[in-house]
Amino acid sequence: MLNADVSAADDHPPPPQAEAQLADLKRFASAGRGYWGRVADCDWQDWRWQLKHRITRLEQLERLLPTLTPEERAGTVLANHKLAMAITPYFFNLIDPADERCPIRRQVIPRLEETHVADWELADPCGEDSHSPVPGLVHRYPDRVLFLVTDRCAAYCRYCTRSRLVSNASGYDFHPQFDRQIEYIARTPAVRDVLLSGGDPLLFSDEKLEDLLSRLRAIPHVEFLRIGSRIPVFLPQRITPELCAMLRQFHPLFLSIHSNHPRELTTEVRDALSRLADAGIPLGNQAVLLRHVNDDLTVMKAHLQKLLLCRVRPYYIYQCDLIAGSAHLRASVRRGLELMNGLRGHTTGYAVPTYVIDAPGGGGKVPVSPEYVLSRNRDRVVIRNYEGKIFEYPEADDGTPLFRAPARIEEPELA
Ligand code: SF4
Repeated sequence: MLNADVSAADDHPPPPQAEAQLADLKRFASAGRGYWGRVADCDWQDWRWQLKHRITRLEQLERLLPTLTPEERAGTVLANHKLAMAITPYFFNLIDPADERCPIRRQVIPRLEETHVADWELADPCGEDSHSPVPGLVHRYPDRVLFLVTDRCAAYCRYCTRSRLVSNASGYDFHPQFDRQIEYIARTPAVRDVLLSGGDPLLFSDEKLEDLLSRLRAIPHVEFLRIGSRIPVFLPQRITPELCAMLRQFHPLFLSIHSNHPRELTTEVRDALSRLADAGIPLGNQAVLLRHVNDDLTVMKAHLQKLLLCRVRPYYIYQCDLIAGSAHLRASVRRGLELMNGLRGHTTGYAVPTYVIDAPGGGGKVPVSPEYVLSRNRDRVVIRNYEGKIFEYPEADDGTPLFRAPARIEEPELA
């Protein structure tokens, strides 16, 4: 039988205002120049100029964002002891100064709530440090490793899973040791897949990144290289033709971007992603489910459909990890399941990512999904579709017995 949640599948067409909002959110617009209208075009397009002019101090923020709230002001003062604040001028222009709940603002401007730490929140919520055979390398799954290259990013996300180490504000003192990391991979034939992350690997110069990728490609059993980067979204100027030409030498090389809201997908980002896709790099997106950012079905759908327009396949939606001080940004799993229920069947399958919880303490990614298999036995599977309609599928006969007899039947002891 269906329960009430399952039968709540949306079988009515969306109201016209939701359709209009969807179309509006999917429109591509430039981030513009905002406060930096007088900066020479060659500087604005220069990724190093963008990095040099990041907003990192309270005085800058107060000047650029007169609507700064007391909670944001207090959070910014305290950020340098937890996770530093940094925002590229390009990305800052996406903030709506008139909206205190702006979804872009919530992701990058610190808030006082970050200092409220619940008992179940953790500095290392995914247990990465306990799966680290050498500094900077996480080997949790059998055939792949996470290779942390740096503790720096172009901008800092307030919900970062690695906030213990990125930006080095809390004194973690992260020192990757490339020689030891590469040596571990070379002597571990089970590792066929290496994911470069951090911090953001695309902060490296082309030369430094090329050197690292060359060393990894020289290991015969490494089949597959991946880069995880938020730079195409925070700093699309970094995706230069030279970078793309360098990366294409290392195929198969995949790149996972990180975007959470359709407004992050500007014309600048779309063009940068096109350059990567034209270099033959398969693109995926990893989003984090965040309260008042993307926990709304129309926003989520617009984001996922817009990613496809940018030639990016939505890959994962992560339930926000139990990061210390992140409760104000965490949406419930209940909400996440409702959203998934509103996506599957209601939009292109390519637009529907896998919703996962990274099991606290280091259990790895666990996919979570609304129930589609209602029951199953030897003869049949009972399933429901996206409209809540129920169907039976006769099970193939593979010799499975109706009841598996125990190997040995214990005789009960008689009194
Ligand atoms: S870009 Fe990634 S690593 Fe850097 S702060 Fe954001 S989530 Fe963390």
